[in-house]
Amino acid sequence: MNEPKRQIKTKFIFVTGGVVSSLGKGLASASIGALLECRGLTITLQKLDPYINVDPGTMSPFQHGEVFVTDDGAETDLDLGHYERFTSAKLTRRNNFTTGQVYDSIITKERRGDYLGCTVQVVPHVTDEIKGKILSLANNVDIAIIEIGGTVGDIESLPFLEAIRQLRFDLGKENVLYIHLTLLPYIATAHEIKTKPTQHSVNKLREIGIQPDILLCRSDRPLNADLKGKIALFCNVERDAVISAEDVKCIYEVPMVFHREGLDDKIIKYLNIWTRAPKLEQWEEIARKAANPKGEITIGIVGKYVNLQDSYKSLHEALIHGGLASNCKVDLVYIDSEEVEKKGVGILKSIDGLLIPGGFGNRGVEGKIAAIKYARETKMPFFGICLGMQVAIIEIARDLCGLKHANSAEFDPETPDPVVDIMETQRGINAKGGTMRLGAYPCVLKKGSKAHSVYGATEISERHRHRFEVNNAYRAALEKAGVEFSGLSPDDSLVEIMEYRHHPWFVACQFHPEFKSRPMQPHPLFRGFVKSVLQHKALAAKGQKGPGRAKKASSALPRRSRKLSLNEAD
Ligand code: GLN
Repeated sequence: MNEPKRQIKTKFIFVTGGVVSSLGKGLASASIGALLECRGLTITLQKLDPYINVDPGTMSPFQHGEVFVTDDGAETDLDLGHYERFTSAKLTRRNNFTTGQVYDSIITKERRGDYLGCTVQVVPHVTDEIKGKILSLANNVDIAIIEIGGTVGDIESLPFLEAIRQLRFDLGKENVLYIHLTLLPYIATAHEIKTKPTQHSVNKLREIGIQPDILLCRSDRPLNADLKGKIALFCNVERDAVISAEDVKCIYEVPMVFHREGLDDKIIKYLNIWTRAPKLEQWEEIARKAANPKGEITIGIVGKYVNLQDSYKSLHEALIHGGLASNCKVDLVYIDSEEVEKKGVGILKSIDGLLIPGGFGNRGVEGKIAAIKYARETKMPFFGICLGMQVAIIEIARDLCGLKHANSAEFDPETPDPVVDIMETQRGINAKGGTMRLGAYPCVLKKGSKAHSVYGATEISERHRHRFEVNNAYRAALEKAGVEFSGLSPDDSLVEIMEYRHHPWFVACQFHPEFKSRPMQPHPLFRGFVKSVLQHKALAAKGQKGPGRAKKASSALPRRSRKLSLNEAD
């Protein structure tokens, strides 16, 4: 059943999770990757998702969180966003796969007759398929970090866990490491951190033949030596393999917290590799900057109401990165666009800058249009992303071009003025999965524009995920009204970036720049936007600007409590 030992150079670290979900396995895996890169090793990361969807592209972000898009156009799990932000790994569709993909290829093979004569079974056929997908990453890097989605004990995860159990036999002990992320809850009434859930979770893993080598123990406080000793004893790991993963204020502190606990030393010892000492200066610098901001701004994100932290993960991080570039703290306020429709733009008075993110469907669109008009007229910095750009085009067409009923064909197929329309290549496509304009496309920037100045380049590449585009028939009218199309596809046929000339920062793009922002290299558009918001706030403080801004209203809007949808599934 087991494949023969192969001559594979790559060593594998498998990261599993126990006790509860949402412990930050993605962040932990990304931070391990960051630490190993700081030691000069080459790495890659892969996420294995036990659900049956072929990819998360058709899932509502209400349920699953953001859909992260790679350069090659794969719609993937949001953990790949963490991987790209923390490491220099180049990720593609091979870096994320699901049970759905595994079964899809097995059934295709079965129909083709590849298994003629066999009964196709979970072991060995499903597990072999999983192993094949994991091993396809081998040989190009020193270490592959593989994160298994879900929590140990889930029915769906079993074939994945069985596959990684087998891999230690296939590849040898020194080439495979198991790291288990677990929760140590503090029980206030007992004044004690409890280890029992961790013991149970490790037992569950051992029942299926996996003895974890290292435990990452999430807790709201540090673990003392006694507790580490107890966990080590009951879970059958070495004392210094019990890593205290205390809560941190800023996620970019995690690599250093792990390092101080000796995690990277332990990993290289177990995997029997020699490396230089890690160079952690850049992580220290980020943590220092995040802890000592010189200013503070509030950015309002106006979209659909939803209460899920993860729907806009990359956007959230990109705004934080923009803040790091200007040494300022960025507070995000999520505003339900339907609230703007009901209560009017007055509720925007407490924000310093407006961002309209990507999205699907017409719910709350009129509220977004009103918010953009408010930002345009009061000269509040505005940044539109994907749907945000399309709505900005509608707003300007209606208000400045006299096209009262201008709309996107997505929201009103009968509109007399479809200023945003379905792409030619999208007409007649009915299947929803993986059929949008997806992944990296080139864009040429107009010299002298704001986009050109922040990018400092004339040719860029950015990632897309949409079906609709600015309708070229209205380009001339929009330009006459003050719009500059500062980013176009190389053949001029597609609008990629638009700006409104008579405004300090009114910039919107058809692509998703948030996917390419990094803490060490904040994305130019987020850098530019945050800088402009800071200037706007400073001007407002001097009382030099438009109506309604003199005093910061105490907002009824809860911070970070409202999230939006980025998926046409909702
Ligand atoms: N719904 C729009 C489209 O499909 C925008 C998509 C998005 O914002 N990602 O074109």
